[in-house]
Amino acid sequence: MANIGQLGGQPIFILPEGTLRTTGRDAQSRNIAAAKAVSESVRTTLGPKGMDKMLVDTIGDVTITNDGATILSEMEIEHPAAKMLVEVAKTQEEEVGDGTTTAVVLAGELLKRSEDLLEQEIHPTVILRGYRLAKSKALEILDGLGQHVTINDAKTLAKIAMTAMTGKGSEAAKESLAELAVDAVRMVSETENGKIKINKDDVKIEKKQGGSIDDTELVKGLVIDKEIVHSNMPKKIKDAKIALLDAALEVKETETNAEIRITSPDQLQAFLDQESKMLKDMTRKVVASGCNVLFCQKGIDDLAQHYLAKEKIAAVRRVKKSDMEKMAKATGGSIVSSVDELTPKDLGEAGLVEELKLAGEEMIFVRDCKNPKAVSILVRGGTEHVVDEVKRAMDDAVLGVMSALEVGKVVPGGGAIEIELARRLREYAETVGGREQLAINAFAEAVEIIPRTLAESTGKDPIDILVELRTLHEKGKKAYGVDVINGTAADMETLNVIEPLKIKTQAIKSATEAAEMILRIDDIITAKSGGGGMPGGMPPGAGGMGGMNGMEE
Ligand code: ADP
Ligand code: MG
Repeated sequence: MANIGQLGGQPIFILPEGTLRTTGRDAQSRNIAAAKAVSESVRTTLGPKGMDKMLVDTIGDVTITNDGATILSEMEIEHPAAKMLVEVAKTQEEEVGDGTTTAVVLAGELLKRSEDLLEQEIHPTVILRGYRLAKSKALEILDGLGQHVTINDAKTLAKIAMTAMTGKGSEAAKESLAELAVDAVRMVSETENGKIKINKDDVKIEKKQGGSIDDTELVKGLVIDKEIVHSNMPKKIKDAKIALLDAALEVKETETNAEIRITSPDQLQAFLDQESKMLKDMTRKVVASGCNVLFCQKGIDDLAQHYLAKEKIAAVRRVKKSDMEKMAKATGGSIVSSVDELTPKDLGEAGLVEELKLAGEEMIFVRDCKNPKAVSILVRGGTEHVVDEVKRAMDDAVLGVMSALEVGKVVPGGGAIEIELARRLREYAETVGGREQLAINAFAEAVEIIPRTLAESTGKDPIDILVELRTLHEKGKKAYGVDVINGTAADMETLNVIEPLKIKTQAIKSATEAAEMILRIDDIITAKSGGGGMPGGMPPGAGGMGGMNGMEE
Protein backbone atom coordinates (compact mmCIF):
# COMPACT_ATOMS: atom_id res chain seq x y z
CA MET A 1 0.00 0.00 0.00
CA ALA A 2 1.14 3.49 -0.78
CA ASN A 3 0.31 4.80 2.66
CA ILE A 4 3.02 2.80 4.31
CA GLY A 5 6.36 4.44 4.97
CA GLN A 6 9.49 2.56 5.98
CA LEU A 7 11.68 3.10 8.97
CA GLY A 8 14.41 0.60 9.65
CA GLY A 9 12.39 -2.12 8.04
CA GLN A 10 9.36 -1.27 10.19
CA PRO A 11 6.31 -0.20 8.25
CA ILE A 12 4.80 3.07 9.44
CA PHE A 13 1.15 3.67 8.76
CA ILE A 14 0.62 7.37 8.12
CA LEU A 15 -2.96 7.17 6.94
CA PRO A 16 -5.95 5.40 8.41
CA GLU A 17 -6.68 1.98 7.12
CA GLY A 18 -8.99 1.99 4.12
CA THR A 19 -7.70 5.29 2.78
CA LEU A 20 -7.54 5.22 -0.97
CA ARG A 21 -4.49 6.68 -2.59
CA THR A 22 -3.64 7.23 -6.22
CA THR A 23 -0.34 8.75 -7.17
CA GLY A 24 1.75 9.98 -10.08
CA ARG A 25 0.56 9.45 -13.63
CA ASP A 26 -2.44 7.51 -12.45
CA ALA A 27 -3.64 10.47 -10.44
CA GLN A 28 -3.09 12.81 -13.33
CA SER A 29 -4.84 10.60 -15.84
CA ARG A 30 -7.87 10.22 -13.64
CA ASN A 31 -8.22 13.90 -13.00
CA ILE A 32 -7.68 14.75 -16.63
CA ALA A 33 -10.23 12.17 -17.70
CA ALA A 34 -12.82 13.62 -15.35
CA ALA A 35 -12.20 17.20 -16.46
CA LYS A 36 -12.29 16.18 -20.11
CA ALA A 37 -15.61 14.46 -19.56
CA VAL A 38 -17.06 17.72 -18.30
CA SER A 39 -15.79 19.79 -21.17
CA GLU A 40 -16.92 17.17 -23.71
CA SER A 41 -20.39 17.33 -22.24
CA VAL A 42 -20.83 20.99 -23.14
CA ARG A 43 -18.60 21.23 -26.21
CA THR A 44 -21.26 20.46 -28.81
CA THR A 45 -23.44 23.30 -27.56
CA LEU A 46 -20.89 25.92 -28.64
CA GLY A 47 -21.99 28.59 -31.07
CA PRO A 48 -25.20 29.50 -32.86
CA LYS A 49 -25.38 26.06 -34.48
CA GLY A 50 -24.63 24.30 -31.23
CA MET A 51 -26.86 21.45 -30.16
CA ASP A 52 -29.15 21.49 -27.15
CA LYS A 53 -28.98 19.26 -24.11
CA MET A 54 -31.96 17.72 -22.44
CA LEU A 55 -31.56 17.58 -18.71
CA VAL A 56 -33.87 15.38 -16.71
CA ASP A 57 -33.70 15.80 -12.96
CA THR A 58 -34.47 13.26 -10.26
CA ILE A 59 -38.17 14.05 -10.26
CA GLY A 60 -38.38 13.93 -14.03
CA ASP A 61 -38.48 17.66 -14.77
CA VAL A 62 -37.02 18.43 -18.14
CA THR A 63 -34.87 21.40 -19.10
CA ILE A 64 -33.76 21.88 -22.67
CA THR A 65 -30.93 24.34 -23.05
CA ASN A 66 -27.64 24.99 -24.75
CA ASP A 67 -26.35 27.29 -22.10
CA GLY A 68 -23.09 25.94 -20.72
CA ALA A 69 -23.49 27.46 -17.29
CA THR A 70 -27.02 26.07 -16.90
CA ILE A 71 -26.02 22.59 -18.02
CA LEU A 72 -23.11 22.38 -15.62
CA SER A 73 -25.04 23.69 -12.66
CA GLU A 74 -27.81 21.14 -13.27
CA MET A 75 -25.45 18.20 -13.67
CA GLU A 76 -24.59 17.84 -9.97
CA ILE A 77 -21.02 16.97 -10.74
CA GLU A 78 -19.19 15.23 -7.91
CA HIS A 79 -15.68 14.47 -9.05
CA PRO A 80 -13.30 17.03 -7.52
CA ALA A 81 -11.31 17.66 -10.70
CA ALA A 82 -14.49 17.90 -12.72
CA LYS A 83 -15.78 20.37 -10.19
CA MET A 84 -12.85 22.64 -10.92
CA LEU A 85 -14.15 22.98 -14.46
CA VAL A 86 -17.56 23.84 -13.17
CA GLU A 87 -15.81 26.56 -11.17
CA VAL A 88 -14.32 27.86 -14.41
CA ALA A 89 -17.81 28.26 -15.81
CA LYS A 90 -18.99 30.00 -12.65
CA THR A 91 -16.11 32.46 -12.65
CA GLN A 92 -16.70 33.26 -16.29
CA GLU A 93 -20.40 33.77 -15.65
CA GLU A 94 -19.70 36.09 -12.72
CA GLU A 95 -16.90 38.06 -14.30
CA VAL A 96 -18.26 38.43 -17.81
CA GLY A 97 -21.69 36.85 -18.03
CA ASP A 98 -20.87 35.11 -21.31
CA GLY A 99 -18.29 32.74 -22.75
CA THR A 100 -18.84 29.96 -20.23
CA THR A 101 -18.78 27.15 -22.77
CA THR A 102 -15.69 28.64 -24.38
CA ALA A 103 -13.84 28.73 -21.06
CA VAL A 104 -14.75 25.18 -20.06
CA VAL A 105 -13.98 23.73 -23.47
CA LEU A 106 -10.64 25.49 -23.48
CA ALA A 107 -9.76 24.14 -20.04
CA GLY A 108 -10.65 20.61 -21.15
CA GLU A 109 -8.56 20.94 -24.27
CA LEU A 110 -5.55 22.30 -22.39
CA LEU A 111 -5.69 19.20 -20.21
CA LYS A 112 -6.14 16.87 -23.13
CA ARG A 113 -3.07 18.34 -24.84
CA SER A 114 -1.08 18.13 -21.65
CA GLU A 115 -1.84 14.45 -21.43
CA ASP A 116 -0.20 13.97 -24.84
CA LEU A 117 2.84 15.75 -23.50
CA LEU A 118 2.89 13.65 -20.35
CA GLU A 119 2.86 10.57 -22.53
CA GLN A 120 5.93 11.91 -24.30
CA GLU A 121 7.60 11.89 -20.89
CA ILE A 122 7.56 15.63 -20.53
CA HIS A 123 7.53 16.53 -16.88
CA PRO A 124 4.44 18.33 -15.53
CA THR A 125 6.65 21.15 -14.28
CA VAL A 126 7.78 21.84 -17.82
CA ILE A 127 4.22 21.77 -19.07
CA LEU A 128 3.14 24.11 -16.32
CA ARG A 129 5.94 26.52 -17.15
CA GLY A 130 5.08 26.43 -20.85
CA TYR A 131 1.40 26.99 -20.18
CA ARG A 132 2.14 29.90 -17.90
CA LEU A 133 4.36 31.52 -20.52
CA ALA A 134 1.71 30.91 -23.16
CA LYS A 135 -0.99 32.41 -20.99
CA SER A 136 0.90 35.66 -20.38
CA LYS A 137 1.80 35.91 -24.03
CA ALA A 138 -1.78 35.16 -25.06
CA LEU A 139 -3.13 37.96 -22.90
CA GLU A 140 -0.58 40.33 -24.38
CA ILE A 141 -1.44 39.27 -27.94
CA LEU A 142 -5.16 39.55 -27.30
CA ASP A 143 -4.76 43.03 -25.91
CA GLY A 144 -2.85 44.03 -29.00
CA LEU A 145 -5.50 42.56 -31.30
CA GLY A 146 -8.42 44.22 -29.51
CA GLN A 147 -9.95 47.16 -31.33
CA HIS A 148 -11.04 50.19 -29.42
CA VAL A 149 -14.69 50.82 -28.90
CA THR A 150 -16.22 53.83 -27.20
CA ILE A 151 -19.60 54.63 -25.80
CA ASN A 152 -20.42 56.70 -28.88
CA ASP A 153 -19.88 53.77 -31.20
CA ALA A 154 -23.48 52.59 -31.13
CA LYS A 155 -23.06 50.51 -34.29
CA THR A 156 -20.27 48.33 -32.97
CA LEU A 157 -22.00 48.00 -29.64
CA ALA A 158 -25.14 46.78 -31.39
CA LYS A 159 -23.08 44.13 -33.18
CA ILE A 160 -21.80 42.95 -29.83
CA ALA A 161 -25.31 42.72 -28.49
CA MET A 162 -26.41 40.76 -31.56
CA THR A 163 -23.50 38.33 -31.34
CA ALA A 164 -24.28 37.72 -27.68
CA MET A 165 -27.89 36.96 -28.58
CA THR A 166 -27.27 34.60 -31.49
CA GLY A 167 -28.70 31.17 -31.09
CA LYS A 168 -30.91 32.23 -28.21
CA GLY A 169 -34.23 32.10 -30.01
CA SER A 170 -34.75 35.80 -30.56
CA GLU A 171 -33.39 35.91 -34.10
CA ALA A 172 -36.33 37.69 -35.67
CA ALA A 173 -36.25 40.70 -33.39
CA LYS A 174 -32.47 40.65 -32.93
CA GLU A 175 -31.78 44.11 -34.31
CA SER A 176 -34.37 46.00 -32.34
CA LEU A 177 -33.50 44.12 -29.16
CA ALA A 178 -29.83 44.91 -29.67
CA GLU A 179 -30.68 48.57 -30.03
CA LEU A 180 -32.57 48.53 -26.74
CA ALA A 181 -29.65 46.87 -24.98
CA VAL A 182 -27.19 49.43 -26.30
CA ASP A 183 -29.41 52.40 -25.46
CA ALA A 184 -29.95 51.10 -21.96
CA VAL A 185 -26.25 50.63 -21.25
CA ARG A 186 -25.36 54.00 -22.74
CA MET A 187 -27.91 55.72 -20.53
CA VAL A 188 -26.56 54.32 -17.30
CA SER A 189 -22.84 54.53 -17.97
CA GLU A 190 -20.90 57.37 -16.48
CA THR A 191 -17.43 58.62 -17.18
CA GLU A 192 -15.18 59.37 -14.26
CA ASN A 193 -11.67 60.75 -14.87
CA GLY A 194 -11.87 59.56 -18.45
CA LYS A 195 -12.72 56.03 -17.25
CA ILE A 196 -16.07 54.52 -17.91
CA LYS A 197 -18.06 53.31 -14.94
CA ILE A 198 -20.96 50.92 -15.32
CA ASN A 199 -22.93 49.18 -12.65
CA LYS A 200 -24.53 45.93 -13.79
CA ASP A 201 -27.59 46.46 -11.62
CA ASP A 202 -28.47 49.78 -13.20
CA VAL A 203 -30.12 48.04 -16.11
CA LYS A 204 -33.01 46.09 -14.70
CA ILE A 205 -34.42 43.45 -17.00
CA GLU A 206 -38.01 42.53 -16.17
CA LYS A 207 -40.16 40.07 -18.03
CA LYS A 208 -43.90 39.80 -18.44
CA GLN A 209 -45.58 37.15 -20.49
CA GLY A 210 -48.03 38.48 -23.05
CA GLY A 211 -47.92 40.69 -26.13
CA SER A 212 -45.12 39.87 -28.55
CA ILE A 213 -41.33 40.20 -28.61
CA ASP A 214 -41.75 43.48 -30.49
CA ASP A 215 -43.53 44.96 -27.48
CA THR A 216 -40.31 44.68 -25.50
CA GLU A 217 -39.48 48.19 -24.43
CA LEU A 218 -36.84 50.30 -22.80
CA VAL A 219 -38.27 52.35 -19.98
CA LYS A 220 -36.23 55.44 -19.16
CA GLY A 221 -36.85 54.90 -15.54
CA LEU A 222 -38.17 51.86 -13.79
CA VAL A 223 -40.77 49.15 -14.03
CA ILE A 224 -41.80 47.54 -10.80
CA ASP A 225 -44.12 44.66 -10.10
CA LYS A 226 -46.40 46.62 -7.73
CA GLU A 227 -49.69 48.46 -7.71
CA ILE A 228 -50.97 51.80 -6.56
CA VAL A 229 -52.20 51.17 -3.09
CA HIS A 230 -55.66 52.80 -3.10
CA SER A 231 -58.32 52.72 -5.78
CA ASN A 232 -59.08 56.45 -5.44
CA MET A 233 -55.53 57.45 -6.17
CA PRO A 234 -54.62 58.68 -9.66
CA LYS A 235 -53.27 55.95 -11.96
CA LYS A 236 -51.50 58.23 -14.36
CA ILE A 237 -49.43 61.16 -13.18
CA LYS A 238 -47.74 63.50 -15.62
CA ASP A 239 -44.73 65.53 -14.49
CA ALA A 240 -44.36 63.34 -11.48
CA LYS A 241 -42.67 64.68 -8.36
CA ILE A 242 -41.63 61.58 -6.52
CA ALA A 243 -41.03 61.17 -2.81
CA LEU A 244 -38.94 58.17 -1.75
CA LEU A 245 -39.59 57.25 1.83
CA ASP A 246 -37.89 54.58 3.88
CA ALA A 247 -40.30 54.75 6.81
CA ALA A 248 -43.77 53.45 7.53
CA LEU A 249 -46.77 55.74 7.28
CA GLU A 250 -48.25 54.00 10.24
CA VAL A 251 -48.58 54.69 13.91
CA LYS A 252 -46.01 52.46 15.57
CA GLU A 253 -47.35 49.31 17.08
CA THR A 254 -47.30 49.57 20.82
CA GLU A 255 -44.25 48.02 22.36
CA THR A 256 -44.88 44.45 23.40
CA ASN A 257 -44.38 45.20 27.05
CA ALA A 258 -46.51 48.35 27.05
CA GLU A 259 -50.14 48.06 27.82
CA ILE A 260 -52.93 50.49 27.27
CA ARG A 261 -55.81 50.30 29.66
CA ILE A 262 -58.96 51.73 28.27
CA THR A 263 -61.72 51.95 30.78
CA SER A 264 -64.34 54.08 29.06
CA PRO A 265 -65.67 54.70 25.52
CA ASP A 266 -64.37 58.26 25.76
CA GLN A 267 -60.91 57.04 26.34
CA LEU A 268 -61.12 54.76 23.33
CA GLN A 269 -62.32 57.61 21.17
CA ALA A 270 -59.51 59.81 22.45
CA PHE A 271 -57.03 57.11 21.64
CA LEU A 272 -58.35 56.65 18.12
CA ASP A 273 -58.45 60.39 17.59
CA GLN A 274 -54.87 60.62 18.69
CA GLU A 275 -53.89 57.90 16.23
CA SER A 276 -55.68 59.48 13.32
CA LYS A 277 -54.20 62.85 14.19
CA MET A 278 -50.72 61.38 14.03
CA LEU A 279 -51.42 59.80 10.65
CA LYS A 280 -52.86 63.06 9.39
CA ASP A 281 -49.75 64.89 10.54
CA MET A 282 -47.56 62.44 8.68
CA THR A 283 -49.52 62.74 5.46
CA ARG A 284 -49.52 66.52 5.81
CA LYS A 285 -45.73 66.42 5.82
CA VAL A 286 -45.74 64.27 2.69
CA VAL A 287 -48.13 66.70 1.01
CA ALA A 288 -46.03 69.68 2.12
CA SER A 289 -43.05 68.36 0.16
CA GLY A 290 -45.00 69.01 -3.02
CA CYS A 291 -44.88 65.43 -4.26
CA ASN A 292 -47.61 63.82 -6.32
CA VAL A 293 -46.19 60.28 -6.15
CA LEU A 294 -44.95 58.45 -3.08
CA PHE A 295 -42.88 55.29 -3.09
CA CYS A 296 -42.71 53.88 0.38
CA GLN A 297 -40.35 51.09 1.41
CA LYS A 298 -42.57 50.20 4.36
CA GLY A 299 -46.31 50.00 5.01
CA ILE A 300 -48.94 52.69 4.59
CA ASP A 301 -51.88 52.67 7.00
CA ASP A 302 -55.41 52.57 5.50
CA LEU A 303 -56.21 55.95 6.93
CA ALA A 304 -53.02 57.47 5.56
CA GLN A 305 -53.91 55.97 2.18
CA HIS A 306 -57.25 57.66 2.37
CA TYR A 307 -55.71 61.06 3.19
CA LEU A 308 -53.15 60.69 0.39
CA ALA A 309 -55.87 59.75 -2.09
CA LYS A 310 -57.79 62.87 -1.12
CA GLU A 311 -54.68 64.90 -1.97
CA LYS A 312 -54.40 63.14 -5.36
CA ILE A 313 -51.11 61.56 -4.42
CA ALA A 314 -50.44 58.13 -5.88
CA ALA A 315 -48.70 55.89 -3.39
CA VAL A 316 -47.00 52.51 -3.59
CA ARG A 317 -46.05 50.60 -0.47
CA ARG A 318 -43.51 47.98 0.48
CA VAL A 319 -41.23 48.74 -2.44
CA LYS A 320 -38.09 46.60 -2.39
CA LYS A 321 -34.98 48.33 -1.10
CA SER A 322 -33.11 47.60 -4.33
CA ASP A 323 -35.95 49.14 -6.33
CA MET A 324 -35.95 52.20 -4.08
CA GLU A 325 -32.25 52.65 -4.77
CA LYS A 326 -32.80 52.30 -8.50
CA MET A 327 -35.69 54.72 -8.29
CA ALA A 328 -33.41 57.29 -6.69
CA LYS A 329 -30.88 56.81 -9.48
CA ALA A 330 -33.50 56.98 -12.19
CA THR A 331 -35.40 60.00 -10.94
CA GLY A 332 -32.64 61.94 -9.21
CA GLY A 333 -34.50 61.87 -5.90
CA SER A 334 -33.12 60.96 -2.48
CA ILE A 335 -34.43 58.34 -0.14
CA VAL A 336 -35.33 59.87 3.20
CA SER A 337 -35.78 57.88 6.36
CA SER A 338 -38.47 59.96 8.04
CA VAL A 339 -41.36 62.15 6.88
CA ASP A 340 -39.89 64.93 9.02
CA GLU A 341 -36.86 65.07 6.78
CA LEU A 342 -38.75 65.15 3.51
CA THR A 343 -38.15 68.41 1.61
CA PRO A 344 -38.92 69.49 -1.96
CA LYS A 345 -35.21 69.04 -2.73
CA ASP A 346 -35.48 65.31 -2.08
CA LEU A 347 -38.11 64.72 -4.72
CA GLY A 348 -37.24 62.86 -7.88
CA GLU A 349 -38.80 63.59 -11.25
CA ALA A 350 -40.30 61.58 -14.06
CA GLY A 351 -42.23 62.63 -17.14
CA LEU A 352 -44.89 60.06 -16.36
CA VAL A 353 -45.75 57.59 -13.66
CA GLU A 354 -48.51 55.15 -14.52
CA GLU A 355 -50.05 51.91 -13.46
CA LEU A 356 -50.78 49.51 -16.31
CA LYS A 357 -52.40 46.15 -16.38
CA LEU A 358 -50.29 43.61 -18.26
CA ALA A 359 -51.50 40.05 -18.62
CA GLY A 360 -53.98 40.68 -15.82
CA GLU A 361 -51.44 42.05 -13.37
CA GLU A 362 -50.67 45.61 -12.39
CA MET A 363 -47.24 47.04 -12.95
CA ILE A 364 -45.96 50.50 -12.26
CA PHE A 365 -44.01 52.38 -14.88
CA VAL A 366 -41.86 55.35 -13.98
CA ARG A 367 -41.12 56.77 -17.40
CA ASP A 368 -39.32 59.56 -19.21
CA CYS A 369 -36.84 60.44 -16.53
CA LYS A 370 -34.55 63.22 -17.66
CA ASN A 371 -31.14 61.74 -17.12
CA PRO A 372 -31.83 58.32 -15.67
CA LYS A 373 -28.89 56.53 -14.10
CA ALA A 374 -30.97 53.38 -13.79
CA VAL A 375 -33.30 52.06 -16.48
CA SER A 376 -35.51 49.03 -17.09
CA ILE A 377 -36.05 46.79 -20.05
CA LEU A 378 -39.42 45.11 -20.01
CA VAL A 379 -39.26 41.91 -22.03
CA ARG A 380 -42.50 40.70 -23.59
CA GLY A 381 -43.37 37.56 -25.53
CA GLY A 382 -46.31 35.37 -26.39
CA THR A 383 -45.50 32.38 -24.23
CA GLU A 384 -43.58 31.75 -21.07
CA HIS A 385 -40.92 29.89 -23.01
CA VAL A 386 -40.42 32.81 -25.38
CA VAL A 387 -40.26 35.43 -22.63
CA ASP A 388 -37.69 33.37 -20.76
CA GLU A 389 -35.55 32.92 -23.86
CA VAL A 390 -35.69 36.58 -24.77
CA LYS A 391 -34.89 37.56 -21.19
CA ARG A 392 -31.79 35.33 -21.24
CA ALA A 393 -30.79 36.77 -24.61
CA MET A 394 -31.30 40.28 -23.28
CA ASP A 395 -29.21 39.55 -20.19
CA ASP A 396 -26.36 38.40 -22.41
CA ALA A 397 -26.72 41.35 -24.76
CA VAL A 398 -26.65 43.91 -21.96
CA LEU A 399 -23.73 42.24 -20.20
CA GLY A 400 -21.87 41.92 -23.50
CA VAL A 401 -22.17 45.61 -24.22
CA MET A 402 -21.13 46.39 -20.65
CA SER A 403 -18.01 44.25 -20.76
CA ALA A 404 -17.05 45.68 -24.15
CA LEU A 405 -17.22 49.18 -22.72
CA GLU A 406 -15.60 48.24 -19.45
CA VAL A 407 -12.40 47.16 -21.18
CA GLY A 408 -12.97 49.38 -24.19
CA LYS A 409 -11.89 46.72 -26.66
CA VAL A 410 -13.57 44.23 -28.97
CA VAL A 411 -12.42 41.31 -31.14
CA PRO A 412 -13.93 39.39 -34.06
CA GLY A 413 -15.76 36.22 -32.99
CA GLY A 414 -16.55 33.02 -34.87
CA GLY A 415 -13.15 31.60 -33.92
CA ALA A 416 -11.30 34.33 -35.83
CA ILE A 417 -9.53 35.68 -32.78
CA GLU A 418 -8.55 32.16 -31.69
CA ILE A 419 -7.04 31.29 -35.07
CA GLU A 420 -4.98 34.47 -34.95
CA LEU A 421 -3.99 33.90 -31.35
CA ALA A 422 -2.86 30.35 -32.08
CA ARG A 423 -0.80 31.53 -35.03
CA ARG A 424 0.99 34.16 -32.95
CA LEU A 425 1.56 31.72 -30.09
CA ARG A 426 3.27 29.28 -32.46
CA GLU A 427 5.56 32.08 -33.61
CA TYR A 428 6.28 32.87 -30.00
CA ALA A 429 6.98 29.21 -29.19
CA GLU A 430 9.85 29.18 -31.67
CA THR A 431 11.52 32.04 -29.88
CA VAL A 432 11.26 30.20 -26.57
CA GLY A 433 12.62 26.86 -27.77
CA GLY A 434 13.44 23.97 -25.47
CA ARG A 435 10.80 21.63 -24.14
CA GLU A 436 8.62 24.57 -23.14
CA GLN A 437 8.16 25.18 -26.84
CA LEU A 438 6.20 21.95 -27.03
CA ALA A 439 3.90 23.09 -24.25
CA ILE A 440 3.35 26.48 -25.85
CA ASN A 441 2.52 24.79 -29.12
CA ALA A 442 0.10 22.53 -27.29
CA PHE A 443 -1.50 25.63 -25.80
CA ALA A 444 -1.88 27.09 -29.30
CA GLU A 445 -3.49 23.87 -30.52
CA ALA A 446 -5.85 23.96 -27.56
CA VAL A 447 -6.98 27.49 -28.36
CA GLU A 448 -7.98 26.31 -31.82
CA ILE A 449 -10.59 24.04 -30.26
CA ILE A 450 -13.00 27.00 -30.53
CA PRO A 451 -12.89 27.44 -34.33
CA ARG A 452 -12.66 23.66 -34.72
CA THR A 453 -15.82 23.13 -32.70
CA LEU A 454 -17.66 25.92 -34.53
CA ALA A 455 -16.57 24.34 -37.82
CA GLU A 456 -17.81 20.94 -36.67
CA SER A 457 -21.18 22.43 -35.81
CA THR A 458 -21.72 23.35 -39.45
CA GLY A 459 -21.73 19.71 -40.46
CA LYS A 460 -18.89 20.24 -42.93
CA ASP A 461 -15.37 18.88 -42.63
CA PRO A 462 -13.76 20.94 -39.88
CA ILE A 463 -10.22 20.23 -41.12
CA ASP A 464 -10.93 21.89 -44.48
CA ILE A 465 -12.28 25.00 -42.84
CA LEU A 466 -9.45 25.15 -40.33
CA VAL A 467 -6.77 24.81 -43.00
CA GLU A 468 -8.40 27.53 -45.04
CA LEU A 469 -8.61 29.82 -42.04
CA ARG A 470 -4.96 29.30 -41.16
CA THR A 471 -3.97 30.19 -44.72
CA LEU A 472 -6.11 33.31 -44.69
CA HIS A 473 -4.62 34.43 -41.41
CA GLU A 474 -1.10 33.87 -42.76
CA LYS A 475 -2.09 36.38 -45.42
CA GLY A 476 -3.10 38.92 -42.80
CA LYS A 477 -6.85 38.37 -42.94
CA LYS A 478 -7.22 38.58 -39.20
CA ALA A 479 -11.00 38.80 -39.01
CA TYR A 480 -11.70 35.55 -40.86
CA GLY A 481 -13.55 32.99 -38.84
CA VAL A 482 -16.21 30.33 -39.27
CA ASP A 483 -19.41 31.32 -41.02
CA VAL A 484 -21.55 28.78 -39.22
CA ILE A 485 -24.54 29.24 -41.50
CA ASN A 486 -22.73 28.48 -44.73
CA GLY A 487 -19.98 26.29 -43.35
CA THR A 488 -17.23 28.39 -44.90
CA ALA A 489 -14.53 30.82 -43.85
CA ALA A 490 -15.76 34.41 -43.81
CA ASP A 491 -14.92 37.87 -42.55
CA MET A 492 -16.54 38.14 -39.12
CA GLU A 493 -16.56 41.91 -39.19
CA THR A 494 -18.72 41.85 -42.32
CA LEU A 495 -20.95 39.28 -40.66
CA ASN A 496 -21.19 41.54 -37.60
CA VAL A 497 -19.87 38.83 -35.31
CA ILE A 498 -18.01 40.93 -32.76
CA GLU A 499 -17.33 40.11 -29.13
CA PRO A 500 -15.95 41.91 -26.10
CA LEU A 501 -12.25 41.27 -25.54
CA LYS A 502 -12.97 40.49 -21.90
CA ILE A 503 -14.78 37.24 -22.80
CA LYS A 504 -11.57 35.96 -24.35
CA THR A 505 -9.08 37.15 -21.77
CA GLN A 506 -11.15 35.86 -18.87
CA ALA A 507 -11.63 32.49 -20.59
CA ILE A 508 -7.88 32.16 -21.12
CA LYS A 509 -7.16 33.12 -17.52
CA SER A 510 -9.57 30.81 -15.78
CA ALA A 511 -9.10 27.91 -18.17
CA THR A 512 -5.32 28.00 -17.74
CA GLU A 513 -5.57 28.34 -13.98
CA ALA A 514 -7.88 25.34 -13.72
CA ALA A 515 -5.68 23.26 -16.01
CA GLU A 516 -2.59 24.19 -13.99
CA MET A 517 -4.26 23.33 -10.75
CA ILE A 518 -5.31 19.90 -12.01
CA LEU A 519 -1.90 19.20 -13.55
CA ARG A 520 -0.08 20.03 -10.36
CA ILE A 521 -1.84 17.23 -8.50
CA ASP A 522 0.13 13.99 -8.42
CA ASP A 523 -1.43 12.44 -5.40
CA ILE A 524 -5.07 11.79 -4.64
CA ILE A 525 -5.75 10.77 -1.10
CA THR A 526 -9.32 9.74 -0.54
CA ALA A 527 -10.54 9.29 2.98
CA LYS A 528 -12.44 6.15 3.73
CA SER A 529 -16.07 7.00 3.26
CA GLY A 530 -18.00 6.41 6.43
CA GLY A 531 -21.11 4.21 6.65
CA GLY A 532 -22.66 3.84 3.25
CA GLY A 533 -19.50 3.00 1.37
CA MET A 534 -18.86 3.97 -2.20
CA PRO A 535 -21.75 5.09 -4.34
CA GLY A 536 -23.13 2.24 -6.35
CA GLY A 537 -21.42 -0.22 -4.08
CA MET A 538 -18.12 0.27 -5.82
CA PRO A 539 -15.21 -1.34 -4.01
CA PRO A 540 -12.39 1.01 -3.10
CA GLY A 541 -9.94 1.36 -5.95
CA ALA A 542 -12.46 0.35 -8.57
CA GLY A 543 -11.77 3.64 -10.29
CA GLY A 544 -14.36 5.66 -12.09
CA MET A 545 -15.53 9.03 -10.94
CA GLY A 546 -17.66 7.88 -8.05
CA GLY A 547 -14.73 6.43 -6.22
CA MET A 548 -13.10 9.74 -5.46
CA ASN A 549 -15.76 11.95 -4.08
CA GLY A 550 -14.39 11.65 -0.63
CA MET A 551 -11.69 14.10 -1.63
CA GLU A 552 -13.89 17.11 -2.08
CA GLU A 553 -13.17 20.02 0.25
P1 ADP B 1 -20.36 30.64 -24.80
O1 ADP B 1 -21.01 30.01 -23.61
O2 ADP B 1 -18.89 30.34 -24.81
O3 ADP B 1 -20.66 32.07 -24.97
P2 ADP B 1 -21.92 30.26 -27.17
O4 ADP B 1 -22.79 29.09 -27.47
O5 ADP B 1 -22.57 31.56 -26.88
O6 ADP B 1 -20.93 29.84 -26.03
O7 ADP B 1 -20.96 30.43 -28.43
C1 ADP B 1 -20.00 31.43 -28.48
C2 ADP B 1 -19.16 31.27 -29.73
O8 ADP B 1 -19.98 31.37 -30.89
C3 ADP B 1 -18.13 32.39 -29.82
O9 ADP B 1 -16.91 31.86 -30.24
C4 ADP B 1 -18.73 33.30 -30.85
O10 ADP B 1 -17.76 34.05 -31.53
C5 ADP B 1 -19.42 32.33 -31.77
N1 ADP B 1 -20.49 32.96 -32.54
C6 ADP B 1 -21.54 33.66 -32.08
N2 ADP B 1 -22.32 34.09 -33.10
C7 ADP B 1 -21.75 33.64 -34.24
C8 ADP B 1 -22.06 33.74 -35.63
N3 ADP B 1 -23.14 34.38 -36.04
N4 ADP B 1 -21.24 33.15 -36.49
C9 ADP B 1 -20.15 32.48 -36.07
N5 ADP B 1 -19.81 32.34 -34.78
C10 ADP B 1 -20.58 32.91 -33.88
MG1 MG C 1 -22.42 33.09 -25.50
